[in-house]
Amino acid sequence: MAEDQQIQVTVVGSSNVDITALMNRLPGPGETVLADSYQLTPGGKGANQALAAQLAGAQTEFIGAVGEDEHSAIALGQMETAGVQLGRVIRSQEPTGVAIISVDSHAENSIAVVSGANASVDAAAVRNAGELHGVLVLQGEIPAAGITAAIAAAKDRVVLNLAPVITLQRGDFLAANPLVVNEHEAFEALKQLDAAAAEGLEENYEQLARQLLAQGIGSVVITLGGAGCLVAEMDAAGQAQLSQVAAMKVNAVDTTGAGDAFTGALAAHLAAGETLSEAADFANRFAAYTVQHPGAQASYPRDLSQL
Ligand code: ADP
Repeated sequence: MAEDQQIQVTVVGSSNVDITALMNRLPGPGETVLADSYQLTPGGKGANQALAAQLAGAQTEFIGAVGEDEHSAIALGQMETAGVQLGRVIRSQEPTGVAIISVDSHAENSIAVVSGANASVDAAAVRNAGELHGVLVLQGEIPAAGITAAIAAAKDRVVLNLAPVITLQRGDFLAANPLVVNEHEAFEALKQLDAAAAEGLEENYEQLARQLLAQGIGSVVITLGGAGCLVAEMDAAGQAQLSQVAAMKVNAVDTTGAGDAFTGALAAHLAAGETLSEAADFANRFAAYTVQHPGAQASYPRDLSQL
């Protein structure tokens, strides 16, 4: 097990193949349009985050599920090339998850996601996987029971990215250190914890962060797109400390997968012992690189000296 001891980040989560077709306009109900081209690329928030953590310098393991089909090799390909450990990926009877993405000439899109094998990352599957090493990263594209089981098996801090928003147990939120959310997800998380406290705070991310801390969450990072992120933590005296970490000023061409890049990079630098603010600063730089390049995993930096 010597190899496993060196794992610094474990991501338990989703992996998909994104099927992206480019067309002049999106078809209406019952209509067929001719598309210009299509691409098959690896995606899924869990896989994106695992790749980001590995590229950000942490030896990373991805635990998820793919089908016994041709798409599985595409779903895992970039992670494998980057050196993410995949030995505990489950082979499911269900097909590899796919996201069917139609994009028109104005970059408007419509997306249908088939969870497929990702639905088999449930509590039993996570328990069967055994010990989870290093910083644990979770998101909302696997069953909630799988998330709870992973938190129960965590040996180190838990980075919980509530994206997409799913219903979790109070204990899952309280295990997060940090909870990583955008403004909308922060509001939805607080609504689950205390609907009355959330009232009227939709667009007040500082108050959302304070209220999430007041619920007992150890730390919260709210991502703010081109404005970077807000880091919120309780200090030793039990006072909420908030600091905004500015993003790089860049020319954004495609923000697909930027949130996942941020979360993976943040986890990698937390695993290396940085403070939350230091790790958030690195995550901002890592994510800013990705928005300047097209695609999700394809946009992640392979050479950190470029950041
Ligand atoms: P999500 O897509 O999950 O809502 P955000 O849009 O908040 O996430 O983006 C996640 C992170 O990506 C931000 O915190 C920031 O670090 C980076 N980022 C996103 N958009 C930009 C941008 N226009 N310029 C620089 N950095 C960006």
